[in-house]
Amino acid sequence: MILEQFRLDDKIAIVTGANRGIGQAMAIGLAEAGADVTLVSRNPADATQQTIEKLGRKAIVICADLASPGSIETIVNSTIKKFGRVDILVNNAGIIRRAPFTEFSEKDWDDVINVNQRSLFLLSQAVAKEFIKQSDGGKIINIASMLSFQGGVFVPSYTASKSAVMGLTRLMANELAPHNINVNAIAPGYIATDNTAPLRQDAARNKAILERIPAGRWGQPEDLKGIVVFLACAASSYMHGYTVAVDGGWLAR
Ligand code: NAP
Repeated sequence: MILEQFRLDDKIAIVTGANRGIGQAMAIGLAEAGADVTLVSRNPADATQQTIEKLGRKAIVICADLASPGSIETIVNSTIKKFGRVDILVNNAGIIRRAPFTEFSEKDWDDVINVNQRSLFLLSQAVAKEFIKQSDGGKIINIASMLSFQGGVFVPSYTASKSAVMGLTRLMANELAPHNINVNAIAPGYIATDNTAPLRQDAARNKAILERIPAGRWGQPEDLKGIVVFLACAASSYMHGYTVAVDGGWLAR
């Protein structure tokens, strides 16, 4: 029956950036569907862990800076040690820096590329090797952006990294599909989190953004729960390399 294909009972997921915002909501969504979860962030994702444990699922908290050497190994090894395997990877952790293109610093370029792009490549590579070793498939879900499709303003490293996420999603899908591994991405629209707080605090920007969203509201982190469960479950087993926008209609406009 189709609804049974949406269940994630006893699947093991790794979610990066699970301490707050979109990553927190997606980790809880996966647990609501039955998964146990490794929660990765710089600060301990204790609140996320408590919510997941209240659902009767297991969660471990890993504090790691994804930009630091060694973090990738720690995440994968701790997951295998605790749960014995891994089935789902959600590459969600991301940062943004804002400044006009002509003033944008090399540090703001490197910091963003290291977290949003380089760590996504390295963690996906390490988890894909585990999937291939386990030889029963797996799911990689990358968090892209409207700026995977559009140029944006004042965010050059963010736009570059999120455009790379969409391209890399396709490349990984091509190489990993023969191993029964699905690689897809989610492109959230404008979601109310810490990442977008400066936009909401700027009255003119906030008004312009809201007027352009057909749904007429900012998205909430919970708006991403359904799509992440779908891409993590058996119902999406013939989807490879696609980036799904969940954007209140922003791209359709
Ligand atoms: P957020 O509220 O700022 O949360 C970011 C999360 O990533 C936090 O849990 C943070 O950990 C973690 N993180 C950041 N840098 C890290 C690092 N070096 N190592 C480990 N963890 C790190 O952001 P969000 O809005 O939920 O965004 C989540 C993802 O969605 C990002 O990839 C973002 O680019 C993307 N996105 C967001 C929007 C939006 O409108 N909000 C739209 C499109 C795409 P700590 O909590 O410990 O700091």
